[in-house]
This record gives sequence, C-alpha cells and structure tokens, in this order.
Amino acid sequence: MAVRPILQIGHPVLRSVARPLTDDEIASPEVQRLIDDMVETMRYANGAGIAANQVGEAVRVIVMEVTDNPRYPYKPQIPLTVAVNPVVESLDDEVFVNNEGCLSVPLRGEVERHVNVRVHYRDPNGDHHDEVARGLTAATWQHECDHLDGVLFVDRVADPTTLSTWEEFEANQSDAFVERITALVDRVGS
Ligand code: ZN
Repeated sequence: MAVRPILQIGHPVLRSVARPLTDDEIASPEVQRLIDDMVETMRYANGAGIAANQVGEAVRVIVMEVTDNPRYPYKPQIPLTVAVNPVVESLDDEVFVNNEGCLSVPLRGEVERHVNVRVHYRDPNGDHHDEVARGLTAATWQHECDHLDGVLFVDRVADPTTLSTWEEFEANQSDAFVERITALVDRVGS
C-alpha cells in the first residue's frame, strides 16, 4: 500500500469522466492495489472519501470512511466503504444545504444535496450492493460520485460568497453550520 499524491483543482484528470470497470478488472491486482492505495491516501489526508480521479486514475472507484475525523468532527460515522461503478439516485425532492470541503480543493463552500438517496455499487469482491443513504452520508456519496463525472463541489456552489478557507470557516461559520446540520442528523439519523 502507498499514499499517493492527491491531484489539485486545475489538473485535467479531475475533470475527466471516469470509465466503469469490468468484472475482470475489479478482480485484477492493479485495481485491488489502487483500492488499497486510495484507502491509505484517504486516511493519511483525513478525508471522508476519495475518488480514483483524485489520485490520477479515471476509473469509477470511490472509497469512504468516517470514524473520528478531525476535518469533519460533526459527521456521522461511515464504516469503510469501497464502491466500484457506483450509481446514486435521489429518492425524492428533499434537499439540504451542506458545507463541503474536498481533498482536491483548498476551500469550503455551501452546496445543495439530496437528503435521501439510493446507491448501487459493486464491492472489491464484485458483489452487488443496493442501499439507502441519508443526510450527510448521502451528501458524501453525491460528492464522491460527482468526482467520477469530472464534477467538483465548487461547480455546485450556488452562492460564491459562501466560499471560505478552512481557517475562516472555523472562525466564522462552523458554529452556525454545526448547529444547523446537527438538527438534520438528529432528524434523519445520519
Ligand atoms: Zn472531493
């Protein structure tokens, strides 16, 4: 396993539409190594998730994990999840305003996300999964799957005045955001 460099906004691979993997590719040592490296890189950088584009591979693989994350202390826990060829679909029209960061962008900003989504994906063994995700966990799925389509959260920031550095977010926005988002987490359970 190896920590890989994380591409930063402006790199063309972050704007590439990633291609799906075949069953044979999922089982290959190259893809299994990529998955291991993505997990190690995400943990090293204290990310909540990372997409293959962010380490320079335009294939449809994301990994997510939230334990006690110092970057996102308000986020509900997500067990380590590796999703190959993931698809996210909204279950209804309910949305909320999330404040997001990204390992490939040095800013945070407010983005509208669906509250209730269904996700379909393959795991590293090739098995199919079909699950419902809600709230901040649903937002993490939407953020990571956006990467696979070459979309960054800044593309979805409707109000650019919400953009801030991490330092200014902590100083000026964190308290109000955490209060608002905690009410959502209490209501939807994640
Ligand atoms: Zn990201």
